[in-house]
Amino acid sequence: MNDILPEQSPVWQYLESTVNDVLSAYGYSEIRMPIVEQTNLFKRSIGEVTDIVEKEMYTFDDRNGESLTLRPEGTASCVRAAEEHGLLFNQMQRFWYQGPMFRYERPQKGRYRQFHQIGVETFGMGGSDIDAEVILLSARLWKRLGLLDSVTLQLNSLGSNEARAEYKDALVTFLSAHKAQLDEDSLRRLDSNPLRILDSKDPQTQTLLNDAPVLSEYLDEESRQHFSELTSILDSAGIAYEVNPRLVRGLDYYCKTVFEWVTDKLGAQGTVCAGGRYDGLVKQLGGRPTPAVGFAMGVERLILLLETLELIPEKVRLPFDLYVAAEEKGLQSKIVLLADRLRDECEGLRVRVHCGGLKNIKQKAQQSGAPLVLLVKESDNQQLCGTIWHQDEPVFDLTEAQMLAAITEYYRA
Ligand code: ATP
Ligand code: MG
Repeated sequence: MNDILPEQSPVWQYLESTVNDVLSAYGYSEIRMPIVEQTNLFKRSIGEVTDIVEKEMYTFDDRNGESLTLRPEGTASCVRAAEEHGLLFNQMQRFWYQGPMFRYERPQKGRYRQFHQIGVETFGMGGSDIDAEVILLSARLWKRLGLLDSVTLQLNSLGSNEARAEYKDALVTFLSAHKAQLDEDSLRRLDSNPLRILDSKDPQTQTLLNDAPVLSEYLDEESRQHFSELTSILDSAGIAYEVNPRLVRGLDYYCKTVFEWVTDKLGAQGTVCAGGRYDGLVKQLGGRPTPAVGFAMGVERLILLLETLELIPEKVRLPFDLYVAAEEKGLQSKIVLLADRLRDECEGLRVRVHCGGLKNIKQKAQQSGAPLVLLVKESDNQQLCGTIWHQDEPVFDLTEAQMLAAITEYYRA
């Protein structure tokens, strides 16, 4: 679990505000859920035989003996909240959320125990158009962030429950005949969750899977149609994708479309965004049947990617625009008021006032990192008189009105 220090938070804010802009452009509304839920919610939605529920949840007993869990993901909570407040029945909804998620995993680059996701969930729409929309939305975000060339879209269809069940049988039959080549986790999953074996990172299992039956050959007609509509919208929109027949998701509730945006720039932890359709989940959690599709992005991985590729605009990291300091003693209260007048004059201008000793003040001000520095003294007639530095070029002896004008001009530019 990490601290996000002041030096780092501007990057988070930059990402968050870009996401906010893009989501607003698609008419999505933010929903905020609590970070703890009853443990059963996650067991029932994510699935008992998944990595998350088997070994990654932070679960504890409340004071009255009720089992609670720090949320490992947002979808289940979002469905719970929407259902509880009557937002799903006979309605079409487009939600997004952001916040910390918790998984007891082995910490490593791109994998933490408290991490953050920005998620999108839509409800009440069963067509391929909404699948396409959430993918286009994510693609627009990559474009805004300058990432579009660094991520690839992987796409698959998991088909209907029936088709998946039929495929599962075929897969189990095949794998059971080659048990010796399966890694330990996969062997265990053979009975409990065989589809997850497709996701195994073990090289020997991977090799074996090359000869295994493929899910796409078992797809039902409706899912096939749905998938081909989706790919044709993506084609028309010019969104490149790879169909990956082995793409399954680590959670049980997906059907039909699944997708991941993957990068090869971060080593093993390459998935920055993952999602798909989960038409069965609302009913499974006690609601009426409601089609749904969504995705979640890993914020830490996105930030890591932006930093690795040096895609964070320089101005994002500037903590403030202007540093104001007195050049001589006794002016501090005037300086504080002057700074506030500047803030009145230039809305949005970020001003930091120097407090404390004035030794080497010119140097200190210039090392503050601000693009603009204002040093103030008092002239013989008790008027404030300032010097402004902008990129090493001082402008001396400005009256207060001239300071305001100059700073406004720099700021607007
Ligand atoms: P993985 O295969 O990497 O374990 P997952 O299938 O468990 O991923 P999801 O539950 O789909 O991941 O979560 C969506 C996204 O959240 C991931 O693609 C990833 O970007 C991010 N994510 C998941 N777990 C972590 C973690 N422990 N630390 C940081 N980011 C994470
Ligand atoms: Mg995982």
